[in-house]
Amino acid sequence: MYSMNPIEEIRGQFPALGQSVWGKPLVYLDNGATSQKPQCVIDLVNRMHCGANANVHRAMHKLSDDATALYEGAREKVREFINAPARENIIFTSGTTASVNLVASSFCRKFLGEGDEIIISGDSHHSNIVPWQMACQAAGASIKVIPVLENGMWDMEAFRGLLGSRVKIIAVEHISNVLGIVNPIKEVIDLAHAQGIPVLVDGAQGIVHCKVDVQELDCDFYAFSGHKIYAATGSGVLYGKQQLLEQMPPYMGGGDMVDTVTFEKTTYAPLPLKFEAGTPNFIAQASLAPALEFAQGLREGEIARVIEEQECAIVEYLRSALQEIEGCTIYGLPPEDGYAAGLDAGLARTAELGASGELGEPARFGEPGSKIPLFSFNIQGCFPSDLAQLLDKMGVAVRTGLMCCEPLMTRFGVTSMVRVSFLPYNTLDEAKYFIASLKRAVRMLR
Ligand code: PMP
Repeated sequence: MYSMNPIEEIRGQFPALGQSVWGKPLVYLDNGATSQKPQCVIDLVNRMHCGANANVHRAMHKLSDDATALYEGAREKVREFINAPARENIIFTSGTTASVNLVASSFCRKFLGEGDEIIISGDSHHSNIVPWQMACQAAGASIKVIPVLENGMWDMEAFRGLLGSRVKIIAVEHISNVLGIVNPIKEVIDLAHAQGIPVLVDGAQGIVHCKVDVQELDCDFYAFSGHKIYAATGSGVLYGKQQLLEQMPPYMGGGDMVDTVTFEKTTYAPLPLKFEAGTPNFIAQASLAPALEFAQGLREGEIARVIEEQECAIVEYLRSALQEIEGCTIYGLPPEDGYAAGLDAGLARTAELGASGELGEPARFGEPGSKIPLFSFNIQGCFPSDLAQLLDKMGVAVRTGLMCCEPLMTRFGVTSMVRVSFLPYNTLDEAKYFIASLKRAVRMLR
């Protein structure tokens, strides 16, 4: 199926990757913020704008039927991708932020009271902090935080100490967008459930780099954005356990989420529409189908092995190359043994599967403690924004700033970091070009 250079074939499906910036070939390393789009997603969006463009669920005409079929087809694709039991579990939102806000507002209105507590992880994105603060303010509840250790891992001992009868929900990052370490969410979920506490997982980064099976994880909610996993911007998902979603009041009121309406009283539509008021971004949501199909294709068979090897090589290369730069601090490096064990287990499993001829899901996808190809760092004597501007002129797109994680920045005593984040379409050569460009930029600034 794939010829000599499968990564080049993958790259060929992304028109945006072929462009030049400032006269240099683009090296796009800001994938943690958003992914580029494959041709199959672009085609679907164009096809819908040119043809199946009509509001979903509303009209008795062909175009609306077509749009609805694509929209509901994408819901089925999402269900399958995360192994949810039914379509009722899959709520379409505009992204992770909207998904977390939905739960923080609706769940907390029903279940959070005065004196109650919510636990969040210390590596949380603002979208997994602020909505809970708003809910706590409304209810007179408070937030407790799982501390982040110096190496970027969670202090699980401290987490155990936070558990108690006043905790009504736990909301944690699957993978922090700053630290790039797969967090032990299964352990958190099991410990929480032993005390009857539901868990929401912010999967904005997790869905991209891990195989997610919501039934195996047994999480109560899983939130993610479509745009980070190849789909069009404006698409997003909230997975929720049905029995919880049934008990939660609607988040927004309006069209499509109702059963009957009188001026006195409204009854609501069954799941999932109860949480989908108004005209959804149906074209973006429909694009989740080709996007997840594409992502799935990268996780199966021979190509999965090639990608895994490349990701491991990029992680190893960046870890040592960055550490060799004088004055460089990397944020989020799991301990050597844990980290190596995570990688080794993944590689050994791949080799085992390869040898038996049964190539399947590489074990590295999702192993707690493993590092994804995402590195945040600072270099003494260089402002991150200066580095980013110089890198941009060399064609390298990186991220800088607070990265929507101000409390985590404060934890590490900084106000900004530089971040590079890779997807399977990025190559080891790009990583090498980035390091060479970074060294050049550092020389210019020192
Ligand atoms: N959580 C994490 C870990 C993220 O990386 C992001 C996006 N940077 C978000 C939440 C928010 O996602 P969105 O802006 O797509 O809602």
